Amino acid sequence: MSDCAVRTDPNLIMRHVEHLAVTIGERLAGSAGEAQAADYIQAEMERIGLQNIRRREFDCSWFEVRRAKMQARFGNMWEPVVMDACAHTPCTNGVLEAELVYVENASDMILDRLDLKGKVALVHGSYGPSSHILKRLNEKEVAAVIWVDVRYTPDWNLRVGLPFTFLPLLKFPAASVPHPVEWDLVRRGADRVRLELDCVVETRPSQNVSGELPGSSDTGGVIITGHHDSVSGTAGAEDNAAGVGVALALAELFAGRQLEKPMRFASFGTEEQLSQGAFAFVADPENRARDIDMVLNTDGQGCWTGVNEVYLTGSESLHEYMGEMMRKCGWSGTIRDEPDGFSDHFPFIIEDVPAAWFCRRNCAGGRWFHHSHFDNIEALSPLVLAACADFVGELALDICTKTALPFDRAFPKCTREAVRKVADGWLKL
Ligand SMILES: [Zn+2]
Repeated sequence: MSDCAVRTDPNLIMRHVEHLAVTIGERLAGSAGEAQAADYIQAEMERIGLQNIRRREFDCSWFEVRRAKMQARFGNMWEPVVMDACAHTPCTNGVLEAELVYVENASDMILDRLDLKGKVALVHGSYGPSSHILKRLNEKEVAAVIWVDVRYTPDWNLRVGLPFTFLPLLKFPAASVPHPVEWDLVRRGADRVRLELDCVVETRPSQNVSGELPGSSDTGGVIITGHHDSVSGTAGAEDNAAGVGVALALAELFAGRQLEKPMRFASFGTEEQLSQGAFAFVADPENRARDIDMVLNTDGQGCWTGVNEVYLTGSESLHEYMGEMMRKCGWSGTIRDEPDGFSDHFPFIIEDVPAAWFCRRNCAGGRWFHHSHFDNIEALSPLVLAACADFVGELALDICTKTALPFDRAFPKCTREAVRKVADGWLKL
């Protein structure tokens, strides 16, 4: 699959994936499954002989859906509707019956001219990369909102987490329907809905686990990361037992090597609520996150078909370096230079730490099975995943065995501004 000198063992990576995604299974943030995953990762880091192993807890918002039902009225007939409760939704306290209004993408122009007080808004899309739509819908005093995940068109439900920063803004009951159900509701003119949502939300502990292989110097080097939580209702094999498997396999492969700079490894909790674990890691001065030369984050990699993508944030010479390494190793991927908030490199790039996020796309919206029950171990090609691990390993070894960094570490002004813009959208309420 590549000409990398680094060769990871696909079976070893898949053994980790199997433990996380099959033996444990669903690993929703704050759940027993997530804690069991952290136990396993810590035990593996100890077995491998990593140093400075840290397991740190932080508070996250756990939730459980006890009941989620919806009916829609077509003419004078009520019909059940395929739907799902959104993460952390407030309850409807019994059955909520109200008028259904299609508000397209909930743009200001559309919302300005609609009276939505006490009504259920059907939104083509989701809250999007800022708190603006949530705030506007609160102002309009909607009774509830039904989102449509428009990235994919299948008729199954997608589970999506709510960014931890948006939790205080979710003041209305929220459900989601698949794309074809939205089509049916609008085309056949559903005018009222009955919605019943019963959800429990609690503050519970989540965990980050990290360790390192020391270098001659104790500053700089890389951190190889993944996340062990999943959304609810999935085994989260590709998202992201695979990334944790890559990190642990590389730790084992490189254990005992002579390194100039430390090679660090971390598995974060609560990624599915906008990288809350990675934010906690970066905020903890014990971790000296700003001191790291580069984050190598694998999340959403390893599926059978598609194209590798590397979201790369840093200097022009970092981009050149990545291109050169790809050519040298014969591992291909599309390098994307727009900053993105959807994985655990995000809190690092806000602090000007260069980062590469390794993922793989097989449809315009991402991966067709994303956040569904199809994200199980069968979604993964062991060889595709191992080829990515080999390339991540090449980069890590190249950076950590040299005394001088092979690229300029400072962010150009335009990159810093672009990162700030993304960060403001997700973090500023
Ligand atoms: Zn993920």
